[in-house]
Amino acid sequence: MKRLVSWIAVLSAVLMMTSCAEEKPLSRTVTALDTVCTISLYDGKEEIALDASVHLLREGEERWSRTKAGSMISKLNAANGAQTTVDTLTYQLLQTAQEYSLATDGAFDVTLGALTDLWTAAEERGSVPTNEELTAALFASGSYKMILGDGTVTLMEGVRLDLGGIAKGAIADDVAQGLRLGGCTSALLDFGGNIVAIGSKPDGSPFHVGIADPKNPDNLVGTIAVHDRAVVTSGSYERGYMIDDVWYSHILNPKTGYPVENDLLSVTILAPNALDADVLSTACFVMGFDRAQAFLQSYEDVDAVFVKADGTVVATDGVKRVD
Ligand code: AMP
Ligand code: MG
Repeated sequence: MKRLVSWIAVLSAVLMMTSCAEEKPLSRTVTALDTVCTISLYDGKEEIALDASVHLLREGEERWSRTKAGSMISKLNAANGAQTTVDTLTYQLLQTAQEYSLATDGAFDVTLGALTDLWTAAEERGSVPTNEELTAALFASGSYKMILGDGTVTLMEGVRLDLGGIAKGAIADDVAQGLRLGGCTSALLDFGGNIVAIGSKPDGSPFHVGIADPKNPDNLVGTIAVHDRAVVTSGSYERGYMIDDVWYSHILNPKTGYPVENDLLSVTILAPNALDADVLSTACFVMGFDRAQAFLQSYEDVDAVFVKADGTVVATDGVKRVD
């Protein structure tokens, strides 16, 4: 049973991650997955390890990007109802996504590409989608409209995939796995706020990860201690659609087709791997506070920090706050 603890907000203007003052990591930052990705090695500090990590990162991006022509997802989205054979990693990821759609009662759904396209188009033209447009896009979404079998994927006509809520986490796990296999025992990955801590700092102390204040992302609502875990945040402040001077969240409620607007400003999930943390943070954001905290009770090794719209910050009791 997870207990909830309220945080007294101590705002501090510090960086997202506090650095290891004693020992500088070997780091590399690249733009990938539509965001800034940084890999910091605290041991095994070799350029070749960074080269291999960036290679894995780019491979994942090539495979799962929606916008890159030739990516597996572009192929699936252009298949017009035809059955398509996919690589093993894509098949496994889509299986996991479908299982999560079921587990979250549809709050997490990678088949909502028609809806995200609709809101992107709405932003470009400057007016919110019409009811007819929303109905049509809702009709083209739903996890059961993605049929998986024997290494093949069939999307029912009009259905498009959007892996924006899961791919960064899955790729961060791949890169972390590659580093671990190479013998790395101390590293920090930050893929646009999807953070994976491999082990702890070289002196054995945990990494420190800051949780942004959604109302003023240059500030933090707190800093947490992390050892060998992934930390992923979803929030309405990160990305969104600006239409007619109104800000709409980039996270959509798959049931209504509308951007999420509820009692949460952000959800941070701590989990053993980044894929789960990525999915659960998006799903919990859609669910709202009450449903999300009840839902997380069944995930033993998962903790959360909720920043609520009323400014309060609530964390599960497994979160170790350091400020
Ligand atoms: P995240 O930033 O990980 O919470 O994921 C948000 C991104 O996932 C959006 O930019 C969309 O590409 C996609 N997305 C939006 N709403 C959902 C949802 N309810 N389920 C799954 N993916 C979503
Ligand atoms: Mg996510």
